[in-house]
Amino acid sequence: MKDVSYTTLDGRNAILNASSLEALAAGIRGGIVTAESETYDAARKVWNGMAERRPAIIARCLNAEDVRHAVAFAREHRMRLTVRGGGHHIAGNSVADGALVIDQSAQRSVRIDPQQRTARVAPGALLGDFDREAQAFGLATPLGINSTTGVAGLCLGGGFGWLTRKYGMTIDNLIAVDMTMADGRRVRASENENADLFWAIRGGGGNFGVVTQFEFRLFPVGPEIVAGLIVFPFNQARQVLTKYRQFLNSAPEELNVWVVLRKAPPLPFLPENIHGKEVVVLPIFYSGAVAEAEKLIAPLRSFGDAVGEHIGPQPYVEWQKAFDPLLTPGARNYWKSHNFTDLADGALDSVIEYAGKLPSPQCEIFIGLIAGAANRVAPGAMAYGHRDAKFVLNVHGRWDEAKDDQKCIGWSRDFFKASAPYASAGAYVNFMTDEEGDRVAAAYGSNYDRLVQAKKRFDPDNVFHFNQNIKP
Ligand SMILES: Cc1cc2nc3c(=O)[nH]c(=O)nc-3n(C[C@H](O)[C@H](O)[C@H](O)COP(=O)(O)OP(=O)(O)OC[C@H]3O[C@@H](n4cnc5c(N)ncnc54)[C@H](O)[C@@H]3O)c2cc1C
Repeated sequence: MKDVSYTTLDGRNAILNASSLEALAAGIRGGIVTAESETYDAARKVWNGMAERRPAIIARCLNAEDVRHAVAFAREHRMRLTVRGGGHHIAGNSVADGALVIDQSAQRSVRIDPQQRTARVAPGALLGDFDREAQAFGLATPLGINSTTGVAGLCLGGGFGWLTRKYGMTIDNLIAVDMTMADGRRVRASENENADLFWAIRGGGGNFGVVTQFEFRLFPVGPEIVAGLIVFPFNQARQVLTKYRQFLNSAPEELNVWVVLRKAPPLPFLPENIHGKEVVVLPIFYSGAVAEAEKLIAPLRSFGDAVGEHIGPQPYVEWQKAFDPLLTPGARNYWKSHNFTDLADGALDSVIEYAGKLPSPQCEIFIGLIAGAANRVAPGAMAYGHRDAKFVLNVHGRWDEAKDDQKCIGWSRDFFKASAPYASAGAYVNFMTDEEGDRVAAAYGSNYDRLVQAKKRFDPDNVFHFNQNIKP
């Protein structure tokens, strides 16, 4: 093995010689990947093409003892350490230059207990792995909308999706975790064991240790649900958004309707003259009885003169993959996000203004509806505390070429500023970029002080710091 240069915690360059690397490799069952390995480029890639990083070593951990060994090695050599799940975080914090990456992506098993309605999920599982196994028994828990996202990062930051109105956030349905801590201890955390740690990880992200197993509560869902899109022309945006706001007052929690403003992709059910033009899309999801869906969805059509519609019964697992083609890895992405308790007129004005000047065909503004079960949990019940948030707005800047960075990032930032006066406090840490480190305290709001206490107790040396970092 060739020597490997790495970055120390204080930013210096240092060298690991062959015997150190062999000692590390001997304790990692999946082996290690370095720049000399053929698989290095594939192994270091994350979803956001802007996060182009060159870690020193990627440790392919196949079990919790591998993780313990990797954490101890990083500490002994004062190496930067990152933890990778599905590699989807916008900040790209699961990889860092010169770091040791704990990569559990080969561990994707999901084991369902249909009697207890629980799932044991390995730390490298993707949403699609989880949904597929759980749906074999007609079960599911709230997860996100893109099947290639990692369960680990999504859950530890909060997690919301189509089922959130009815069943809450992903963390609201987390029963227990197994973890490896900074000092090498392996612990289980739940409401009854290490309850302070369990409080902190439910929203506190990867700040406290490495989760090596998750256990979730499941609910009967589908397998067939009703879902799809209704698409309106952009010149009707104000009326569609205003009617949407009103409609939600009486919509049952089995029904979830989001809003996406973007340029129309060339979808086969849209007329060609609409392709590439700004549109307002209502993605619709109904998890109640299929026969009930039509009468609940029918009023949405009267919001305007739709230019296209594609909606009907389909397997839940298929709908969970419906947005994958628009969210493929490798593009350049820059996000900004606010929570809203309501959609004030001023917020809608800014949405319409900035959707009218989208800087690329892939940029979009989306409003995710989470009102319902997630709002019935006390704000202090766990680290994720935005229990007043009914909507999560994401300004999704997305484009292909570095030459467009300034234009697309500028648009995202300007819209974020324009909509800020109407936002509620706090922010969703899973949507925050790496430049938003100074927003972390505000993101957690009144739960931040307790998180700092937990960090001092469980990771006083800040071993786990490539994340939305809570400083000890
Ligand atoms: C296309 C796309 C769609 C999305 N849609 C949704 C959505 O619908 N709903 C939603 O809530 N979010 C959504 N997100 C945001 C998503 O929740 C975050 O990006 C999340 O961090 C992804 O988790 P990951 O494991 O893939 O990411 P990674 O980048 O691998 O991990 C993110 C961070 O989590 C921590 N981490 C990962 N694994 C572990 C572990 N085992 N133990 C301890 N810490 C760990 C690390 O700090 C790491 O830096 C979406 C993201 C993308 C890119």
